[in-house]
Amino acid sequence: MYVASENRYDNMKYNRAGRSGLKLPAISLGWWYNFGGLDVFENGRAIARRAFDLGVTHFDLANNYGPPPGSAEETFGKLLEQDFAPYRDELVISTKAGYDMWPGPYGEWGSRKYLLTSLDQSLKRMGLEYVDIFYSHRPDPETPLEETMGALDAAVRQGKALYAGVSNYSPEQTRQAAKTLRELGTPCLIHQPRYSMLDRWVEDGLLDVLEQEGIGCIVFSPLAQGQLTDRYLNGIPEGARASKTERIWLTPDTVKENLPKVRKLNEIAERRGQKLSQMALAWVLRKPQVTSALIGASSVGQLEDNLAALDNLTFSKEELETIEKILEV
Ligand code: NDP
Repeated sequence: MYVASENRYDNMKYNRAGRSGLKLPAISLGWWYNFGGLDVFENGRAIARRAFDLGVTHFDLANNYGPPPGSAEETFGKLLEQDFAPYRDELVISTKAGYDMWPGPYGEWGSRKYLLTSLDQSLKRMGLEYVDIFYSHRPDPETPLEETMGALDAAVRQGKALYAGVSNYSPEQTRQAAKTLRELGTPCLIHQPRYSMLDRWVEDGLLDVLEQEGIGCIVFSPLAQGQLTDRYLNGIPEGARASKTERIWLTPDTVKENLPKVRKLNEIAERRGQKLSQMALAWVLRKPQVTSALIGASSVGQLEDNLAALDNLTFSKEELETIEKILEV
């Protein structure tokens, strides 16, 4: 039987999500990769247990995580039953709907029909009565924003979600979403955008909107899917994400293209006495608007490495300037 570490709250830092009452761990665990039906169940289980033992109270899921779609939520359901049931109230579990999930016109995007039926399916797969955060996974250009936000509000009112969030919304869409949700009486808790040293779009307006609106920010792929680690410094190892052909979210060409920058960044990390992965996480967390860095890990070792980023989150002015020069090129 799994008994969580007594010391699980000793070293984690918890940050408030915007102007809400909810705090999230500075580093949260994403279930996009490594927890699906094709992955090794015991490996995912070891990662999830170790994460919770180290104070990672937030697991982030979505309806489509797998593969096959839905299987990461099923894995969570099994782990909840076997390991985490006694700790349900200590966990913040999120899920999302927005991407392609089932055939026909009601299986993706942002209609009320899709969002609310998808949430019911997610709850069933996970064996949960409610999720802590329910997200609109992406903006839908064809559905009125009022309908999509209305569905999030309904999920909260039905007791199926405690908080509402949005992901991949532009600054202007976020402002509109926040206004609509506020009028409905369900504030927008959090935004989930991509952010890393290799993708800085959030600095161009989104972070300002989040600060003004009092919305939290949990950034995904802060390690640029493994590129901002030592994973690819000496080529593409077998089994690494960029070597996988069944999913094409990180290609060998992208890895190769970014490598000169990554090598230079690695030198700065070494001078700081940190791994590159740890510096990359500290770098996204330097922004006061960023509540949590949402990582993935394919092993317990990677997870532990990443959590050790919390040992040094500060940068000198000179370090930040040097990083800036490398990223500008
Ligand atoms: P990361 O940028 O943290 O990449 C994680 C991957 O990097 C790992 O799976 C591993 O890859 C490698 N890695 C991690 N730590 C180390 C380390 N210390 N040393 C060497 N390699 C390491 O994040 P993800 O891209 O996985 O995204 C994180 C989460 O964000 C997802 O699980 C999901 O919850 C969320 N997300 C949300 C999206 C949205 O649209 N809202 C979209 C994408 C993600 P390897 O397999 O090679 O070992």
